[in-house]
Amino acid sequence: MAVQPQPTTGVQARGVLVEKTPLETYVPPAKPSLVGLSRAELADCIGQAGVPENQRKMRVQQLWHWIYVRGVRTFGEMTNVSKALRVELEKHFTIDRPEVVAEQISEDGTRKWLLRLPSGHAAERPHEVECVYIPETDRGTLCVSSQVGCTLNCSFCHTGTQRLVRNLTAGEIAGQVMIARDRLGDWIDRETPNGNRLVTNIVMMGMGEPLYNFDAVRDALAIVSDNEGIAISRRRITLSTSGVVPNIVRAGEEIGSMLAISLHAVRDDLRNELVPLNRKYPIAELLEACRNYPGLSNARRITFEYVMLKGVNDSLDDAKWLVKLLKGIPAKINLIPFNPWPGSSYQCSDWDQIEKFSEYIFNAGYSSPVRTPRGRDILAACGQLKSETEKLSARERQALRAMAMTD
Ligand code: SAH
Ligand code: SF4
Repeated sequence: MAVQPQPTTGVQARGVLVEKTPLETYVPPAKPSLVGLSRAELADCIGQAGVPENQRKMRVQQLWHWIYVRGVRTFGEMTNVSKALRVELEKHFTIDRPEVVAEQISEDGTRKWLLRLPSGHAAERPHEVECVYIPETDRGTLCVSSQVGCTLNCSFCHTGTQRLVRNLTAGEIAGQVMIARDRLGDWIDRETPNGNRLVTNIVMMGMGEPLYNFDAVRDALAIVSDNEGIAISRRRITLSTSGVVPNIVRAGEEIGSMLAISLHAVRDDLRNELVPLNRKYPIAELLEACRNYPGLSNARRITFEYVMLKGVNDSLDDAKWLVKLLKGIPAKINLIPFNPWPGSSYQCSDWDQIEKFSEYIFNAGYSSPVRTPRGRDILAACGQLKSETEKLSARERQALRAMAMTD
């Protein structure tokens, strides 16, 4: 099983705590799920179930098809697999995805699922993460989480105020895509072998910092983009990072997805405040890593995300600096209206200011779409994801914010 909890401790950078508590450990369930395993790992599992070596490749192909093309949830449905093997597999394994504990459907069609995951301690409540499906006319985007909470404390982000953190496993990450297909009836069946799928795009923009859970994210995305399985192309998968510089080039080499950078500020002093990880990896280093992103071209541009915070980062001077900073990088700029959450200390920029900002960038030659907030009525918009059981008290929130802001 690709379970790799990566213990880290808080990192001190120039006297400030950039990251929070160490990661929790993960306790796998008694019967592990086959979801999230590579073909080689799957071959080992069926070897344990008694399949002779010369049959394993063929059996793996069959299982892969049933799990990732047809989306079955029981071994009993795998009709071309021998009864004896199905019984043997059933004894040792499951094809479980994370448990869905709630589904909310917004008036704009956005759907949010609350998922339950085992925690590190039997006595403790299980962890929860969220995942969101956003239907649009030409695509359906699934926003996927990579961690329970986030070890980073961006001051405008709800997820960042969450206490508990553990890395999701590859199975729990790929499992979110499978849950979306389950709930939307989006698997290939006999009636719709070539039918259009609803989930066409993936954005790693849910809870957590995907580049701090590198191996599991890489393994999950290899499964999601596998042509003989879920088959969502890497060009339709976007990984968003707050700027974990050492892993950016690695992501280009080992994951090969599209890249989005949460920039949000054009000066280090402000970015230190908004995205405290900037103290460790300042803007110049971050942009250098972007310039070196493998496969970068005009056809494969990097998206720079910029949350519009009233009176904080939304002046025309900021827009000018932004254009200067990105010179020479094939880039798109995505302006995100700030999504307020209970207890947040920022306001969203006024609409005409967002328009002026966007116009400046557009006139400088950048595509600058303003991301329309979706699913606001079900708190499903960017940066609002947070598990229900992890709400912090106002005092704890204040302490966290102070921790992120103090120098
Ligand atoms: N940790 C990764 C991916 C998850 S956050 C990252 O930071 O990139 C996905 C995007 O939502 C990021 O650009 C993040 O900065 C933005 N975001 C977080 N909180 C937000 C909020 N309250 N309103 C708007 N965007 C927010
Ligand atoms: Fe973590 Fe991203 Fe939120 Fe920052 S914006 S706290 S990196 S999830």
